[in-house]
Amino acid sequence: MDNNKQKASILLIYTGGTIGMIENTETGMLEAFNFQHLMNHVPELKRLGYSVSSLQFDPPLDSSDMGPDSWMKITRIIADNYQKYDGFVILHGTDTMSFTASALSFMLENLSKPVILTGSQLPIGMIRTDGKENLITAIEIAAAKENGLPVVPEVCIFFENELFRGNRTSKINADNFNAFRSYNYPSLAKAGIYIKYDTAQIYRPASRKPLKAHYLLDRNIAILKLFPGISPNVVESILTIPNLKGVVMETFGSGNAPSCDWFINMLKEAVGRGLVIVNVTQCSAGVVEMHRYETGHKLLDVGVVSGFDSTTESAVAKLMFLFGHNLSPEEVKEHMNCSLIGEVTLPGFGSNR
Ligand code: ASP
Repeated sequence: MDNNKQKASILLIYTGGTIGMIENTETGMLEAFNFQHLMNHVPELKRLGYSVSSLQFDPPLDSSDMGPDSWMKITRIIADNYQKYDGFVILHGTDTMSFTASALSFMLENLSKPVILTGSQLPIGMIRTDGKENLITAIEIAAAKENGLPVVPEVCIFFENELFRGNRTSKINADNFNAFRSYNYPSLAKAGIYIKYDTAQIYRPASRKPLKAHYLLDRNIAILKLFPGISPNVVESILTIPNLKGVVMETFGSGNAPSCDWFINMLKEAVGRGLVIVNVTQCSAGVVEMHRYETGHKLLDVGVVSGFDSTTESAVAKLMFLFGHNLSPEEVKEHMNCSLIGEVTLPGFGSNR
């Protein structure tokens, strides 16, 4: 890696979350505090040798309160400051971090600089905090260059020693420091004594195009999680939500669902009305293959689209992004069959992009 410590400039965007929280001594509850506090708790930041500037959401948000408006705000900050900085670190609550990372990967088209999200399970002011290490290493990664080019020009999540492609992640543990996984795509780097990058897995833009920031998202999306015994009322009430455009349907195993007539007919009718239904698996790892079992095949026959090995988080963000651009259901389906920015592995292809 280049010795670029003096040169690298990083913009730290503090959106909220546990990393910047403090205990209210009266109520015992965790509350967001002023970003200045964070700087005081991590004096190492000043010693890193990079030029680190910061911006903070006012008020800082618990990530359960974040969504398309916050994603647009982050995108705007990055686009407005894109030329001034070598990399961006976003401090974010862990609860919905994977949704934000997925959305940003679509919204920041032609990204050629690192955008690294991180947070922590314990507030940075606590002695056993995981926040310090996450923050410091995220900054190192955002600043890393080789031959003058950023090592990781992607939207990523760095958490507890591992760097993941953001749109491949899910939060898998509410307690452990090891809170994120990317089951269907290898990690991009591991941080031990050294930060070891797996460069073959990292996306590298073929040509240098200017950043194109997108701000259009459509919220008319729903998640339908199947379970044995699901009733017609539940399925119908979701599929008939007024103005609904897309449904991420979480199915069993390799993309299987009940084969009973009422269920298949409801899906068929909804697809006929122009609803795009994307099939993702409830399993943590693996891929949807609707032709594998009769129960999956029926879904294919009525026009359900494969989400391949997509996470639910990424499929939701992708549908919001595609419908936000006023694409027709047919166009959305076509794009769901493509990897826009490495979010799915298509059969017979890799997913480095
Ligand atoms: N509730 C917090 C959030 O997601 C949890 C965290 O930061 O880990 O904002």
